[in-house]
Amino acid sequence: MPVGRDEYDVVIVGAGHNGLVCAAYLAMAGLRVKMVERRRVVGGAAVTEEFHPGFRNSVAAYAVSLLNPKIIRDLRLHEHGLRIVERRVQNFLPAVDGSYLLAAEGETARQIGKFSAADAGRYAAFNRELDMAADVLRDLALRAPPNLASGFTLRRLGELIRTGALANRLRRLRPEQVRILFDLATKSAGEFLDNWFETDLLKAMHGFDAVVGNYASPYAPGTAYVLLHHAFGEVNGRKRSWGHALGGMGAITQAMARAAQTLGVAIETDAPVAEIVVERDRACGVVLGDGRVIRGRAVAANVNPRLLYTGLMPGGALPAEFLARMRRWRCESGTFRMNLALSRLPSFAALPTSKGTDHLTSGIILGPSLGYMERAFHDARRDGWSREPIIEMLIPSTLDDSLSPPGTHVASLFCHHVAPQLPDGKSWSDHRDTVADLMIDTVERYAPGFKASVLGRQALSPLDLEETFGLTGGDIFHGALSLDQLFWARPMIGYADYRGPLRGLYHCGSGAHPGGGVTGLPGHNAARAIIRDRRWRVWT
Ligand SMILES: Cc1cc2nc3c(=O)[nH]c(=O)nc-3n(C[C@H](O)[C@H](O)[C@H](O)COP(=O)(O)OP(=O)(O)OC[C@H]3O[C@@H](n4cnc5c(N)ncnc54)[C@H](O)[C@@H]3O)c2cc1C
Repeated sequence: MPVGRDEYDVVIVGAGHNGLVCAAYLAMAGLRVKMVERRRVVGGAAVTEEFHPGFRNSVAAYAVSLLNPKIIRDLRLHEHGLRIVERRVQNFLPAVDGSYLLAAEGETARQIGKFSAADAGRYAAFNRELDMAADVLRDLALRAPPNLASGFTLRRLGELIRTGALANRLRRLRPEQVRILFDLATKSAGEFLDNWFETDLLKAMHGFDAVVGNYASPYAPGTAYVLLHHAFGEVNGRKRSWGHALGGMGAITQAMARAAQTLGVAIETDAPVAEIVVERDRACGVVLGDGRVIRGRAVAANVNPRLLYTGLMPGGALPAEFLARMRRWRCESGTFRMNLALSRLPSFAALPTSKGTDHLTSGIILGPSLGYMERAFHDARRDGWSREPIIEMLIPSTLDDSLSPPGTHVASLFCHHVAPQLPDGKSWSDHRDTVADLMIDTVERYAPGFKASVLGRQALSPLDLEETFGLTGGDIFHGALSLDQLFWARPMIGYADYRGPLRGLYHCGSGAHPGGGVTGLPGHNAARAIIRDRRWRVWT
């Protein structure tokens, strides 16, 4: 049944974490907000679900670092029950020859020294360089990038001021620091890391960050940026650390939902949007799958921009060249995700459990060199998946006993590379189990006995990620983090300020700057744009 005109100021399409953050900030500014979510639960890719009787896990996103501390503070997420704990060891990389690398507070340089005294000596300088670049990115991530605006308008003046502020920020850096930033924005991770180090496992540890969600060889230009993207986070004040949200990633989005609801946001689940309502070139509501219309003075889309513009807009509402470009928005993460119920902890041949279990709290990376990672990509391009895939394994139950019955464990496998679309017209539905078996066999090579400990499993191919979470092409970032889709080009040059091509239409999801990951930043920045436009009566 249709509701009255403009019952809400803003209707948000999708209740992923960015939509929730956007909603909370809008409500703090006094706006009336309605969220409509297609799934039964809020949280998008950041949810905790039971995937096997008695076993719960963060079924998609699984590790915390990028979530911005300002957002945690502003939304009072701790007061709404969020607790994030650090891993006791950050990373563990076993090799099949029995060697291994551990990265842990105060221990990493000594570990690197087992392989190369020169690399151990350079590690502090490498970290200083990465910290400097991450500090700049952290700063840029909290604001809209400069946007292309034409004509003699107030908006153009605003853009000039913003561009000036950015230039001013960069002016504070030494020329060599600007060169480093440029390297990280343009070079391949492989070239960047080869210039620093000679140890394969060390380069693989950082190289993994460059291929996460990025369907590319680590030697592809631009992959160094993805490495940096995974370095701008922090856990409980410790920069570039990764941790675990007690209760899983769903604990983050449940806390966000509580924060938003406390501020008056109305959230409706099981409410897929079929179409955005457009009247006189203005977005002013949504039509739900059941035919109901929810009107708002503005609409903010938390969904992938390609999904928004090619799937949810009425015909003829968009400029043709805009739509043509949006159809080419590249979405392909090449990831395969598994959740496993385990009867016991795995024991790695390189560092058996009998010698301690702290390394099992870490991100365990199976992918011992950049060359291995490059082969994985080329194999997947040719065959659909690599016979030697790259896997990050996490066992969150080592830090959180709420996830599985006593004595048992849960593990996440985040597997790269697989082809988003299989070659020769093959379907993921027919090959999911083969690839899932391959992933378990791969872990078995490093941890004999692992396969026998698997009590149950959930396997999510790129197609499953699309169908379950609405992630177009299975893309975990709502669009590849490549140079042509970043910063002022996210999601398109001229539309990087969170405003779409129609009045009252905004982007508040990961398809906007600064991109994917559980950051909350696109939601935070979009809310700012919406609040500013409301002040200037752009859509009232
Ligand atoms: C397998 C996997 C592993 C990952 N690992 C990590 C990690 O460890 N750490 C990390 O920081 N990031 C990780 N990421 C990335 C991160 O989870 C995402 O980039 C982020 O969650 C996206 O948030 P979002 O709010 O922008 O969008 P989403 O979470 O995608 O939310 C969009 C919402 O819109 C809804 N929706 C879609 N269509 C409609 C419609 N028609 N009507 C109404 N609602 C609709 C969806 O159901 C969804 O709830 C991972 C992602 C995946 C998939």
